[in-house]
Amino acid sequence: MQNNNRLRIVIQKSGRLSTDSKQLLIQSGMKIDLEDKRLITFSENMPIDVMCVRDDDIPGLIMDGIIDLGIVGENVLKEELLKRQSKLEDSNYIKLMRLDFGHCKLSLSIPINTNYFDINFFNHTRIATSYPYILKKYFDDKNIIFKSCSLNGSVEVAPSAGLADGIFDLVSTGATLKANGLREVEVICYSYACLICKSNNMNLFKKSIINKLLTRIKGVIKARESKYIMLHTPRSQLKKVMKLLRGAEEPTIIELGNDNKKVAMHVVSSENLFWETMEELKLLGASSILVLPIEKMME
Ligand code: ATP
Ligand code: ZN
Repeated sequence: MQNNNRLRIVIQKSGRLSTDSKQLLIQSGMKIDLEDKRLITFSENMPIDVMCVRDDDIPGLIMDGIIDLGIVGENVLKEELLKRQSKLEDSNYIKLMRLDFGHCKLSLSIPINTNYFDINFFNHTRIATSYPYILKKYFDDKNIIFKSCSLNGSVEVAPSAGLADGIFDLVSTGATLKANGLREVEVICYSYACLICKSNNMNLFKKSIINKLLTRIKGVIKARESKYIMLHTPRSQLKKVMKLLRGAEEPTIIELGNDNKKVAMHVVSSENLFWETMEELKLLGASSILVLPIEKMME
């Protein structure tokens, strides 16, 4: 039964998205028992319940309006969307934001020794995949006729087992492909984890919790991407130093105790500081360069 006074979030139970999803909720201020193996866990300090399921079930729970919020890979989301659209089933949802984890790509791969010329190679072939709808859309747009062999696991062994001419699957390092005598020939799309929300009749109370959570999640991600930089620089080089730290907010300039040729500069940078930039700062006469992580941020 739906409880209108508590927001329900669904995340992956165990797999590549689960640790990051749980961590994101905790860093956003939610007190929740991570070790709890129950299907639904209740947050102690916020009116939020967290449900843990297989990632493939997440888009459907949102599109059917059963659960309010979900964290899922765009790959799984898109496949479910295309599947439902082809069957004229409910497929509404709102994508609230892309998250900063779960990065992967969907690619076409073929046996290493097969000669590849261009995408038309795939005309009249059979492709093993767990993403038949994404693949169909891609090939339909290119007028390529193919047959799919739908597998939910061990997709990469299909060519050597004589089940398919190639595969369409997630690739991260490429090690699995190599181990199975395959090579990637086309990257079809990239994917990240994203936060999605059901699109129908949410009450004002739930909407206000979602807005609060969204602000906090944005703050957590922004903090993870940002650094607090402190350094001493010759007063004469201040402009050049500031230019090197471009993209940063306005810096704070502080006088030093007994050295009026130098000043201290503190700045929040929206990106990490690479060694190369630190070396350039050093050449300008900067010293005591510190790069610190930021825990929380609110703009
Ligand atoms: P489940 O048991 O929940 O069905 P699964 O085996 O289908 O899990 P996982 O391997 O845990 O799925 O991957 C979950 C999602 O993580 C993928 O659908 C994709 O969005 C993302 N993902 C895939 N590979 C990587 C990777 N190397 N690094 C980060 N995220 C990835
Ligand atoms: Zn899955």
